[in-house]
Amino acid sequence: MSVSEILFAVAGALLGLAFQGGMFLFLIPFAVVAISLAFMNRPSLPNGTTVLPVIKDKHSTTLSPIVSPDLRNEFTNSKLETNEPNSSLRINEVWSRANLDIDKAFGDILRCLKVLMPQANTLTVWTNGGSTTEFKLRTFQSDIPNCIDMSAKITENMGILSMLLRPDVSRILEGDLLVGKRLTYYIENRKIRSLVGVPLFDRNERRLGALLVDSLHPNAFSPTHAQALAFIARAMFMVSFKSFVSAQNYIEQQQFSVLYHYQRKFFQTMTVKDIYKQMFEYVKENMPFDRLTILALDGPKENSGHVVYCVGVDSDQFVNKKFTLSDKGIFVLAFLRNRPISRSFNSGYADYVPRLNDSEKRNMELRQLFVMPVSSEPDAKIAELAICLESRYINRYQDHEKKLLKAFAGVAGFAYARAYQFEMGKDMAARDALTGLMNRGALRDAMRTEKIRANRQKTNIGVLMMDIDHFKKVNDTYGHPVGDEVIKGIANVISGEIRKEIDVVGRYGGEEFVVGLVDTTPEGMIETAERIRKSVGKLEFNILKPDPLRVTVSIGAYLVTPEFSDMKKAINNADQALYKAKEGGRNQVVQFEEIDGLSGVSGEL
Ligand code: GH3
Ligand code: MG
Ligand code: MG
Repeated sequence: MSVSEILFAVAGALLGLAFQGGMFLFLIPFAVVAISLAFMNRPSLPNGTTVLPVIKDKHSTTLSPIVSPDLRNEFTNSKLETNEPNSSLRINEVWSRANLDIDKAFGDILRCLKVLMPQANTLTVWTNGGSTTEFKLRTFQSDIPNCIDMSAKITENMGILSMLLRPDVSRILEGDLLVGKRLTYYIENRKIRSLVGVPLFDRNERRLGALLVDSLHPNAFSPTHAQALAFIARAMFMVSFKSFVSAQNYIEQQQFSVLYHYQRKFFQTMTVKDIYKQMFEYVKENMPFDRLTILALDGPKENSGHVVYCVGVDSDQFVNKKFTLSDKGIFVLAFLRNRPISRSFNSGYADYVPRLNDSEKRNMELRQLFVMPVSSEPDAKIAELAICLESRYINRYQDHEKKLLKAFAGVAGFAYARAYQFEMGKDMAARDALTGLMNRGALRDAMRTEKIRANRQKTNIGVLMMDIDHFKKVNDTYGHPVGDEVIKGIANVISGEIRKEIDVVGRYGGEEFVVGLVDTTPEGMIETAERIRKSVGKLEFNILKPDPLRVTVSIGAYLVTPEFSDMKKAINNADQALYKAKEGGRNQVVQFEEIDGLSGVSGEL
């Protein structure tokens, strides 16, 4: 065994240990030194070596990398956005730090090689950037300034180096080249005479790039050099692999902690509105965008919805905007597909794709769109919410961002379903099952709330108490189910005659209703009561009898002024007036009035 063989064996052993990773990585420089010493003790070179595509020998691998060491993860549009994420998830920074570390390690290895291979002119490291059909220059070392084209890219049939792209070539070795001609990465023709190069493999024998050394001297390199370079190439892979794994681990850990944080926040709330707000905060915190729109359907089975949040470029036009699932916008499309949509647009006017509908302002600046639908069930046909990100930059959203948003959407969907169910449950408990109006308890609460507001605003509340006339007869004649239909019909009439979402209406008892007319005058109150009375009178129920069934109501009214504070008594007063209306012959409105401090009731109106 020659000295050089022993040294190579030592280097091999050191690298073998280094490949175990972790603390053994520090052995790499020693291995490099051992290899270099082996060069110096190498047997004398045979003359006139020519290009030698050598069939690579398999080295056994069992582990596979968790990440593809795609060494360049370039990101050009890193600023000027309306919203910049300010969370710990600066993934691009993490990757560029990893890349810097790798470049530094590669640079050190090349400098070391340069010292130990004095005949070398230029040493270059090439990476494939994820593609199997090209190499891009990553790092190089040379004595001669500006000799290498920094943007050099090698594809098939581009000089000698391109041979290393071929799966059957495991090294190149040129002993006496024609002057510079086939080295396409040089800016000028240098008098390069010899060349040695090996591919950079990952653990699965995939080509990640190449390591190349050239020299101005003929026959400067031997197969032993090629073998040594192959060792070093493996060490380089390990360095980059470890950097990437650690970057990836860091990112995953950050993503996990961000998701965990929001998951906790989500489950501390029970209202749908808070869920919207947290979604908005999360996206603002973690995603870059020029416009963010969050839309929600009015409920899981509804086909209409509205914009719950919109910020950024031209956002005013979308704030609170309503939409239906039959609208022709791309935001709406995401609901119908319940799959993420990623689109980029040309800047031309004709390429504009409506976001919500055709009448919106067309903004040609927003060139990239990414919509993530959110649904409470993962396999739902239609989504219930959508998070829409838009950016001025094409291909703005990277895979890790999309993936994280998807994970977030999963958590959000679940939290939304829970809050929605909870609100529905609360709502159900407050509503009367037959008519959908507030039940007695909810009505009392609502009256109290309105009274507080009225006191603050110094306004009146008109209280109407109504009861169906001779309702027992309806039940007796037509049966209870028909009676129920009548109650429902009257509830609808009352709801139709008052101001929706302003006035209050509830089913007070079996066939009794109470209305609270907010901010009204004595005349206004009576007018509304009369309107209800008349409308009920016109209502016809078509039962299988010759004539349609008609019913009437009697109404007692009481005006609650700011000075009057007892709402329970107010309802009582209205009830007393109702009693008078019944006494007075029914189908009429009677207003309760206080006469000289005593209760009294005015006559029929
Ligand atoms: P008046 O004009 O004096 O009000 O006569 P009335 O027959 O309507 O008398 P009252 O208001 O006391 O009668 C209430 C009746 O309403 C008694 C009850 O059978 C009926 N009722 C109460 N709740 C319901 C209900 O949910 N469905 C039906 N079908 N009937 C109900
Ligand atoms: Mg009654
Ligand atoms: Mg009645």
